Amino acid sequence: MAAKSMAESNYVADLMAEVREKNPAQPEFHQAVQEVAESIAPVLESHPEYRKKKIFERMIEPERVVMFRVTWQDDHGEVRVNRGYRVQMNSAIGPYKGGLRFHPSVYLGVLKFLAFEQVFKNSLTTLPMGGGKGGSDFDPKGKSDDEVMRFCQSFMTELSRHIGADTDVPAGDIGVGGREIGFLFGQYRRLRNEFTGVLTGKGTSWGGSMIRPEATGYGCVYFASEMLAARKGSLQGKTCLVSGSGNVAQYTIEKLIQLDAKVVTVSDSDGYIYDERGFDRDRLAFLMDLKNNRRGRIQEYATKFPTAVYTARNGGVDHNPLWTHEADCAFPSATENEINGKDAENLTRGGVKLVAEGANMPCTPEAVDVFHNSGVLFAPGKAANAGGVAVSGLEMAQNSSRLAWTRDEVDNRLRQIMKSVHNTCMKASEQYKRTDNYVDGANIGGFLKVADAMMDQGLV
Ligand code: NDP
Repeated sequence: MAAKSMAESNYVADLMAEVREKNPAQPEFHQAVQEVAESIAPVLESHPEYRKKKIFERMIEPERVVMFRVTWQDDHGEVRVNRGYRVQMNSAIGPYKGGLRFHPSVYLGVLKFLAFEQVFKNSLTTLPMGGGKGGSDFDPKGKSDDEVMRFCQSFMTELSRHIGADTDVPAGDIGVGGREIGFLFGQYRRLRNEFTGVLTGKGTSWGGSMIRPEATGYGCVYFASEMLAARKGSLQGKTCLVSGSGNVAQYTIEKLIQLDAKVVTVSDSDGYIYDERGFDRDRLAFLMDLKNNRRGRIQEYATKFPTAVYTARNGGVDHNPLWTHEADCAFPSATENEINGKDAENLTRGGVKLVAEGANMPCTPEAVDVFHNSGVLFAPGKAANAGGVAVSGLEMAQNSSRLAWTRDEVDNRLRQIMKSVHNTCMKASEQYKRTDNYVDGANIGGFLKVADAMMDQGLV
């Protein structure tokens, strides 16, 4: 990999000092900006016109942030107050697009990091979508369906003023699945008296696209397949570690099974399962029912299948034992910063040769350095998990034309898009002499399209 010039290092250091001062106590946002700044520094060196127009300085400032109170009533008649957000980061290449996250850890810094990453990811998909992200510190876990509905209705009552099919099109993320999208869409439709493609991830009988639930997990596996195919390899027969057990994890497992790979782990926030026998269709069906219908904990899997061992989470240790098992590939699919430097060392020691981020930023910068230094193929989330938003973009296209495409048609398009994202990363990394570095490839590839659009559109 080419070393950074002094001018590039100084640019990043000065920029980051300003970012930290202007956005205090938002470490995830700083982390995401720093990574992109380091990747694109050589691009800015060779394109002074981007520096002159302060393109990157504009990209790290959201176009708009909305923060609002969400008041709702629980089943006991108690009044509850949560905080809602929508970060509209960049709309240079299309309407803001990005998910909603409902989780107690949500605050402005997390959503700014996610919205910022989304800008580059959406640009890579080849579709005309800007970047945004939103959500709330509301925790759907342990709430009744009625409580979730009342919360969603209250949340949408305010959000509806700021979104629209041509303005901003939210989707799901952690804690926001088909049930929540349904409640949110219902309230939007009632308030606005219009049936539009204002949200994606909708049910297929009311404007949703085939393959949208599967898209992020399937897309991540397609991306990993492309990485291996470019090196004359495949996923067939590979042992894989997956974390999380939500939407992304479930469909990552499904596609890996279809490609004859063996998945031996899954997790939730309480602990993880190691099943040496590997997942098959029956085991996956059990997991999906447990998580999507019964909304239970992952521990139950080990009670049902005696070959599986459950290990409870231990916050007191400096690593996650899930990543110590021997395997060929890893698909972190739970949340940000779930693989630290120590975990990365354990993964390489256990034989892992490919890591594809199903989640957003699940690997810390130290972990990414370990992978790059030990020759592990590493796919950053903004490329590897772009399949979710890509099919959301296809859902928008179907809604605009009032048509519904077949499962095969959407899946083929998804596959082509992931191929194209992979090619863009490869080409951009080679052009800037960072061959095999998918982090730089994704950041540079995503940046160029948005930067050129901003140049064309003047100072707005
Ligand atoms: P889900 O809510 O469906 O599942 C999240 C999973 O991760 C659950 O198993 C959850 O366990 C676990 N998890 C969440 N937070 C933590 C935590 N702090 N520590 C340990 N485990 C945790 O979300 P998704 O599958 O949709 O999203 C997973 C990741 O993928 C996120 O990073 C998201 O941003 C990213 N992503 C999602 C896309 C999508 O289309 N859904 C698109 C692109 C990226 P528990 O149930 O115990 O909380």
